[in-house]
Amino acid sequence: MSKTRDIAPLNIAPQNTEPEDRGGPHQPLIIAKNLKKHFPIRSGLLNRKSATVHAVDGVSFEVRKGETLGIVGESGCGKSTTARLLIGLIELDDGRIIFDGDALGSDIKLKELRRGVQMVFQDSYASLNPRLTIVESIAFGPQVHGMEDPHGKARDLMRRVGLAPERFANRYPHELSGGQRQRVNIARALAMSPRLVILDEAVSALDKSVEAQVLNLLNDLREELGLTYVFISHDLNVVRYISDRVLVMYLGEVVEVGPAEAIYHRQAHPYTASLFAAMPSMDPDNRTEEPPLAGDPPNPVDPPSGCRFHTRCRFAEGVCAARKPQLASIGGDADHLAACHMGDPASGHSLASKEGSA
Ligand code: SF4
Repeated sequence: MSKTRDIAPLNIAPQNTEPEDRGGPHQPLIIAKNLKKHFPIRSGLLNRKSATVHAVDGVSFEVRKGETLGIVGESGCGKSTTARLLIGLIELDDGRIIFDGDALGSDIKLKELRRGVQMVFQDSYASLNPRLTIVESIAFGPQVHGMEDPHGKARDLMRRVGLAPERFANRYPHELSGGQRQRVNIARALAMSPRLVILDEAVSALDKSVEAQVLNLLNDLREELGLTYVFISHDLNVVRYISDRVLVMYLGEVVEVGPAEAIYHRQAHPYTASLFAAMPSMDPDNRTEEPPLAGDPPNPVDPPSGCRFHTRCRFAEGVCAARKPQLASIGGDADHLAACHMGDPASGHSLASKEGSA
Protein backbone atom coordinates (compact mmCIF):
# COMPACT_ATOMS: atom_id res chain seq x y z
CA MET A 1 0.00 0.00 0.00
CA SER A 2 1.44 3.37 -0.94
CA LYS A 3 1.89 5.86 1.83
CA THR A 4 -0.33 8.91 1.68
CA ARG A 5 -0.57 11.87 4.00
CA ASP A 6 -4.09 12.05 5.38
CA ILE A 7 -3.33 13.83 8.61
CA ALA A 8 -3.01 17.60 8.96
CA PRO A 9 0.00 18.99 7.12
CA LEU A 10 2.84 19.95 9.38
CA ASN A 11 4.36 23.32 8.64
CA ILE A 12 7.24 23.71 10.97
CA ALA A 13 8.02 27.08 12.47
CA PRO A 14 11.30 26.76 14.33
CA GLN A 15 11.03 28.31 17.76
CA ASN A 16 11.93 27.79 21.35
CA THR A 17 9.18 25.41 22.53
CA GLU A 18 10.44 25.27 26.12
CA PRO A 19 7.66 26.69 28.31
CA GLU A 20 8.59 30.02 29.81
CA ASP A 21 7.10 32.09 32.58
CA ARG A 22 5.40 35.14 31.13
CA GLY A 23 2.74 37.70 31.96
CA GLY A 24 -0.70 38.26 30.43
CA PRO A 25 -4.07 36.55 30.76
CA HIS A 26 -2.70 33.10 29.93
CA GLN A 27 0.05 33.21 32.50
CA PRO A 28 1.15 29.71 33.48
CA LEU A 29 0.23 28.42 36.92
CA ILE A 30 2.58 25.45 36.61
CA ILE A 31 5.54 25.02 34.31
CA ALA A 32 7.02 21.55 33.99
CA LYS A 33 10.49 21.52 32.46
CA ASN A 34 12.12 18.36 31.20
CA LEU A 35 10.55 16.09 33.86
CA LYS A 36 12.13 12.66 34.19
CA LYS A 37 11.07 9.70 36.27
CA HIS A 38 12.58 6.26 35.84
CA PHE A 39 11.54 3.34 38.05
CA PRO A 40 14.09 0.60 38.79
CA ILE A 41 13.00 -3.02 38.45
CA ARG A 42 14.67 -5.20 41.06
CA SER A 43 15.03 -8.94 40.97
CA GLY A 44 16.95 -11.89 42.41
CA LEU A 45 17.79 -12.77 45.98
CA LEU A 46 19.82 -9.62 46.47
CA ASN A 47 17.06 -7.45 45.03
CA ARG A 48 19.52 -5.92 42.56
CA LYS A 49 18.37 -3.41 39.95
CA SER A 50 17.94 -5.39 36.75
CA ALA A 51 16.21 -2.86 34.49
CA THR A 52 14.70 0.62 34.40
CA VAL A 53 11.21 1.66 33.34
CA HIS A 54 11.35 5.00 31.49
CA ALA A 55 7.98 6.21 32.82
CA VAL A 56 8.42 9.93 32.12
CA ASP A 57 11.30 10.97 29.90
CA GLY A 58 11.90 14.66 29.32
CA VAL A 59 8.34 16.00 29.51
CA SER A 60 7.84 19.79 29.30
CA PHE A 61 4.56 21.70 29.31
CA GLU A 62 2.67 24.43 31.10
CA VAL A 63 -0.75 24.62 32.71
CA ARG A 64 -2.25 28.10 32.30
CA LYS A 65 -4.28 29.85 34.96
CA GLY A 66 -7.99 29.10 34.65
CA GLU A 67 -7.69 26.47 31.91
CA THR A 68 -8.35 22.74 31.80
CA LEU A 69 -5.44 20.85 30.29
CA GLY A 70 -6.45 17.35 29.18
CA ILE A 71 -3.77 14.65 29.12
CA VAL A 72 -4.42 11.60 26.95
CA GLY A 73 -2.53 8.51 25.84
CA GLU A 74 -2.66 4.75 26.15
CA SER A 75 -2.28 3.03 29.47
CA GLY A 76 1.37 3.18 30.57
CA CYS A 77 2.18 6.34 28.55
CA GLY A 78 3.23 8.19 31.71
CA LYS A 79 0.22 10.47 32.20
CA SER A 80 -0.52 9.39 35.78
CA THR A 81 3.19 9.45 36.72
CA THR A 82 3.34 13.00 35.34
CA ALA A 83 0.36 13.93 37.56
CA ARG A 84 2.04 12.45 40.63
CA LEU A 85 5.22 14.39 39.87
CA LEU A 86 3.20 17.61 39.61
CA ILE A 87 1.67 17.14 43.04
CA GLY A 88 4.93 15.95 44.62
CA LEU A 89 3.63 12.45 45.44
CA ILE A 90 6.74 11.01 43.85
CA GLU A 91 10.17 12.59 43.50
CA LEU A 92 11.60 13.85 40.25
CA ASP A 93 14.75 12.17 38.94
CA ASP A 94 15.44 15.27 36.89
CA GLY A 95 13.75 18.42 35.63
CA ARG A 96 12.00 21.34 37.31
CA ILE A 97 8.50 22.28 38.37
CA ILE A 98 7.71 25.96 38.72
CA PHE A 99 4.48 26.67 40.62
CA ASP A 100 3.13 30.19 40.19
CA GLY A 101 6.59 31.59 39.62
CA ASP A 102 8.38 29.62 42.38
CA ALA A 103 10.70 26.78 41.52
CA LEU A 104 9.95 23.63 43.47
CA GLY A 105 12.99 22.92 45.54
CA SER A 106 14.64 24.86 48.30
CA ASP A 107 12.53 27.98 47.71
CA ILE A 108 9.10 26.44 48.02
CA LYS A 109 8.16 23.84 50.58
CA LEU A 110 6.64 20.66 49.24
CA LYS A 111 3.88 21.14 51.83
CA GLU A 112 2.81 24.38 50.18
CA LEU A 113 2.73 22.74 46.77
CA ARG A 114 0.66 19.86 48.13
CA ARG A 115 -1.86 22.33 49.51
CA GLY A 116 -2.01 24.40 46.31
CA VAL A 117 -2.39 21.31 44.12
CA GLN A 118 -4.99 18.69 45.00
CA MET A 119 -5.83 15.46 43.26
CA VAL A 120 -8.98 13.38 42.70
CA PHE A 121 -8.42 9.72 41.84
CA GLN A 122 -10.49 7.17 39.93
CA ASP A 123 -11.35 4.91 42.87
CA SER A 124 -13.80 6.98 44.89
CA TYR A 125 -14.08 4.39 47.67
CA ALA A 126 -10.36 3.76 48.21
CA SER A 127 -9.78 7.51 48.43
CA LEU A 128 -11.99 7.83 51.53
CA ASN A 129 -11.41 6.61 55.06
CA PRO A 130 -14.29 4.14 55.68
CA ARG A 131 -14.34 4.99 59.39
CA LEU A 132 -14.93 8.72 58.89
CA THR A 133 -18.33 10.25 58.15
CA ILE A 134 -18.62 12.39 55.04
CA VAL A 135 -18.38 15.67 56.93
CA GLU A 136 -15.37 14.39 58.91
CA SER A 137 -13.65 13.29 55.70
CA ILE A 138 -14.06 16.71 54.08
CA ALA A 139 -13.11 18.57 57.26
CA PHE A 140 -10.01 16.42 57.90
CA GLY A 141 -7.54 18.38 55.72
CA PRO A 142 -8.59 21.85 56.95
CA GLN A 143 -8.44 20.54 60.54
CA VAL A 144 -4.89 19.22 60.13
CA HIS A 145 -3.81 22.55 58.62
CA GLY A 146 -5.41 24.53 61.44
CA MET A 147 -7.92 26.26 59.18
CA GLU A 148 -10.88 28.05 60.77
CA ASP A 149 -14.22 26.24 61.25
CA PRO A 150 -13.38 23.07 59.30
CA HIS A 151 -16.81 21.50 59.81
CA GLY A 152 -18.63 24.65 58.67
CA LYS A 153 -16.39 24.77 55.60
CA ALA A 154 -17.08 21.06 54.95
CA ARG A 155 -20.86 21.59 55.09
CA ASP A 156 -20.61 24.57 52.75
CA LEU A 157 -18.57 22.48 50.29
CA MET A 158 -21.10 19.65 50.50
CA ARG A 159 -23.77 22.10 49.29
CA ARG A 160 -21.50 23.28 46.48
CA VAL A 161 -20.97 19.76 45.18
CA GLY A 162 -24.68 18.91 45.41
CA LEU A 163 -24.79 16.85 48.62
CA ALA A 164 -27.28 18.24 51.14
CA PRO A 165 -25.46 18.22 54.51
CA GLU A 166 -28.66 17.42 56.40
CA ARG A 167 -28.92 14.14 54.43
CA PHE A 168 -25.30 13.16 53.88
CA ALA A 169 -23.06 14.73 56.57
CA ASN A 170 -23.24 11.82 58.99
CA ARG A 171 -23.25 8.98 56.49
CA TYR A 172 -20.27 6.73 55.79
CA PRO A 173 -18.67 6.17 52.36
CA HIS A 174 -20.23 2.69 51.91
CA GLU A 175 -23.70 4.25 52.21
CA LEU A 176 -23.14 6.45 49.13
CA SER A 177 -23.22 5.70 45.39
CA GLY A 178 -20.05 6.00 43.29
CA GLY A 179 -21.13 9.39 41.93
CA GLN A 180 -21.92 10.71 45.42
CA ARG A 181 -18.55 9.48 46.73
CA GLN A 182 -16.76 11.22 43.88
CA ARG A 183 -18.58 14.45 44.82
CA VAL A 184 -17.20 13.95 48.35
CA ASN A 185 -13.69 13.52 46.94
CA ILE A 186 -14.08 16.72 44.91
CA ALA A 187 -15.24 18.54 48.07
CA ARG A 188 -12.24 17.12 49.98
CA ALA A 189 -9.89 18.45 47.31
CA LEU A 190 -11.57 21.87 47.36
CA ALA A 191 -11.42 22.02 51.16
CA MET A 192 -7.73 22.87 50.91
CA SER A 193 -8.52 25.93 48.72
CA PRO A 194 -6.28 24.66 45.91
CA ARG A 195 -5.21 26.62 42.84
CA LEU A 196 -4.88 23.49 40.69
CA VAL A 197 -6.92 20.28 40.82
CA ILE A 198 -5.60 17.18 39.06
CA LEU A 199 -8.39 14.80 38.05
CA ASP A 200 -6.83 11.41 37.31
CA GLU A 201 -9.49 9.28 35.56
CA ALA A 202 -11.86 10.89 38.09
CA VAL A 203 -15.05 10.13 36.13
CA SER A 204 -13.93 6.92 34.40
CA ALA A 205 -15.63 4.53 36.83
CA LEU A 206 -19.00 6.33 36.73
CA ASP A 207 -22.10 5.51 34.69
CA LYS A 208 -22.49 7.76 31.65
CA SER A 209 -25.40 9.77 33.10
CA VAL A 210 -23.59 10.30 36.42
CA GLU A 211 -20.37 11.08 34.55
CA ALA A 212 -22.13 13.91 32.68
CA GLN A 213 -23.45 15.37 35.94
CA VAL A 214 -20.00 15.29 37.56
CA LEU A 215 -18.40 16.87 34.46
CA ASN A 216 -20.96 19.69 34.57
CA LEU A 217 -20.28 20.13 38.28
CA LEU A 218 -16.53 20.36 37.59
CA ASN A 219 -17.10 22.99 34.90
CA ASP A 220 -19.33 25.04 37.23
CA LEU A 221 -16.82 24.84 40.09
CA ARG A 222 -14.00 25.92 37.81
CA GLU A 223 -15.98 29.02 36.82
CA GLU A 224 -17.19 29.85 40.33
CA LEU A 225 -13.90 29.28 42.15
CA GLY A 226 -11.44 30.30 39.41
CA LEU A 227 -9.82 26.86 39.45
CA THR A 228 -7.33 25.35 37.04
CA TYR A 229 -7.58 21.65 36.12
CA VAL A 230 -5.35 18.94 34.73
CA PHE A 231 -7.77 16.30 33.45
CA ILE A 232 -6.35 12.85 32.74
CA SER A 233 -8.50 10.33 30.91
CA HIS A 234 -8.41 7.58 28.33
CA ASP A 235 -11.83 8.77 27.08
CA LEU A 236 -11.19 11.27 24.28
CA ASN A 237 -14.83 12.42 24.10
CA VAL A 238 -14.80 13.34 27.77
CA VAL A 239 -11.45 15.11 27.43
CA ARG A 240 -12.78 17.09 24.48
CA TYR A 241 -15.86 18.14 26.43
CA ILE A 242 -13.95 19.52 29.38
CA SER A 243 -10.54 20.63 28.04
CA ASP A 244 -9.28 23.92 26.62
CA ARG A 245 -6.01 22.34 25.53
CA VAL A 246 -4.96 18.72 25.12
CA LEU A 247 -1.55 17.13 25.60
CA VAL A 248 -0.89 13.73 24.02
CA MET A 249 1.71 11.39 25.55
CA TYR A 250 3.32 8.28 24.10
CA LEU A 251 5.75 6.07 25.99
CA GLY A 252 6.83 8.73 28.48
CA GLU A 253 7.07 11.62 26.03
CA VAL A 254 4.85 14.45 24.77
CA VAL A 255 4.11 13.94 21.07
CA GLU A 256 1.50 16.65 20.51
CA VAL A 257 -0.11 19.52 22.42
CA GLY A 258 -2.55 22.19 21.34
CA PRO A 259 -6.00 23.74 21.65
CA ALA A 260 -8.65 21.02 22.07
CA GLU A 261 -10.47 21.84 18.83
CA ALA A 262 -7.21 21.87 16.82
CA ILE A 263 -6.21 18.49 18.26
CA TYR A 264 -9.65 17.03 17.55
CA HIS A 265 -9.97 18.33 14.01
CA ARG A 266 -6.38 18.63 12.77
CA GLN A 267 -4.26 15.95 14.44
CA ALA A 268 -0.70 16.51 13.33
CA HIS A 269 1.05 13.50 14.85
CA PRO A 270 0.32 10.02 13.44
CA TYR A 271 -0.08 8.64 16.97
CA THR A 272 -2.74 11.24 17.83
CA ALA A 273 -4.48 10.51 14.53
CA SER A 274 -4.54 6.78 15.33
CA LEU A 275 -5.92 7.41 18.81
CA PHE A 276 -8.75 9.46 17.33
CA ALA A 277 -9.40 6.92 14.61
CA ALA A 278 -10.02 4.34 17.31
CA MET A 279 -12.48 6.67 19.03
CA PRO A 280 -16.16 6.03 18.29
CA SER A 281 -17.67 9.09 16.61
CA MET A 282 -21.38 9.84 16.33
CA ASP A 283 -20.68 12.30 13.53
CA PRO A 284 -20.26 10.58 10.14
CA ASP A 285 -18.43 13.66 8.77
CA ASN A 286 -15.91 13.41 11.53
CA ARG A 287 -14.72 9.84 10.95
CA THR A 288 -11.15 9.48 9.76
CA GLU A 289 -9.67 6.92 7.40
CA GLU A 290 -6.68 6.43 9.68
CA PRO A 291 -6.37 2.76 10.67
CA PRO A 292 -6.59 2.17 14.42
CA LEU A 293 -3.39 1.51 16.31
CA ALA A 294 -1.93 -1.92 15.81
CA GLY A 295 -0.35 -3.85 18.64
CA ASP A 296 0.68 -2.84 22.13
CA PRO A 297 3.08 -0.02 22.97
CA PRO A 298 6.73 -1.17 23.15
CA ASN A 299 8.22 -2.05 26.51
CA PRO A 300 9.10 1.15 28.42
CA VAL A 301 12.11 -0.71 29.82
CA ASP A 302 13.71 -0.56 26.39
CA PRO A 303 12.00 2.22 24.40
CA PRO A 304 12.67 2.39 20.64
CA SER A 305 15.40 4.73 19.40
CA GLY A 306 14.62 8.03 17.68
CA CYS A 307 10.89 8.58 17.48
CA ARG A 308 9.46 6.12 20.00
CA PHE A 309 6.39 5.64 17.80
CA HIS A 310 8.39 4.39 14.80
CA THR A 311 7.69 0.70 15.52
CA ARG A 312 3.95 1.29 15.03
CA CYS A 313 3.86 4.25 12.63
CA ARG A 314 2.82 3.60 9.03
CA PHE A 315 4.80 6.66 7.90
CA ALA A 316 8.07 5.55 9.55
CA GLU A 317 11.26 5.91 7.52
CA GLY A 318 14.95 5.49 8.33
CA VAL A 319 15.29 8.93 9.88
CA CYS A 320 12.53 8.10 12.39
CA ALA A 321 14.56 5.37 14.10
CA ALA A 322 17.79 7.35 13.82
CA ARG A 323 16.77 10.74 15.23
CA LYS A 324 14.34 11.93 17.87
CA PRO A 325 11.95 14.56 16.47
CA GLN A 326 11.51 17.70 18.56
CA LEU A 327 8.24 19.43 19.42
CA ALA A 328 7.70 22.29 16.97
CA SER A 329 4.80 24.54 16.09
CA ILE A 330 2.72 23.48 13.14
CA GLY A 331 0.52 25.18 10.58
CA GLY A 332 1.64 28.60 11.81
CA ASP A 333 -0.13 28.04 15.14
CA ALA A 334 2.34 28.76 17.92
CA ASP A 335 0.02 27.00 20.37
CA HIS A 336 -0.17 23.72 18.44
CA LEU A 337 3.02 21.64 18.64
CA ALA A 338 3.90 18.16 17.41
CA ALA A 339 7.05 16.02 17.41
CA CYS A 340 7.28 14.34 14.01
CA HIS A 341 9.91 14.38 11.27
CA MET A 342 7.16 14.94 8.71
CA GLY A 343 6.95 18.48 10.05
CA ASP A 344 10.58 19.24 9.40
CA PRO A 345 11.69 19.76 5.78
CA ALA A 346 15.30 19.39 6.96
CA SER A 347 14.66 15.92 8.42
CA GLY A 348 14.96 14.07 5.13
CA HIS A 349 11.59 12.34 5.61
CA SER A 350 10.05 11.87 2.17
CA LEU A 351 6.66 13.17 3.33
CA ALA A 352 8.03 16.21 5.16
CA SER A 353 6.16 19.43 4.43
CA LYS A 354 7.93 21.50 1.82
CA GLU A 355 7.30 25.23 1.60
CA GLY A 356 3.86 25.63 0.02
CA SER A 357 3.17 21.91 -0.26
CA ALA A 358 0.59 21.95 2.51
FE1 SF4 B 1 5.95 8.42 12.39
FE2 SF4 B 1 8.46 9.17 11.85
FE3 SF4 B 1 6.63 10.98 12.57
FE4 SF4 B 1 7.56 9.25 14.34
S1 SF4 B 1 8.74 10.84 13.30
S2 SF4 B 1 5.47 9.81 14.05
S3 SF4 B 1 7.80 7.41 13.07
S4 SF4 B 1 6.64 9.74 10.69
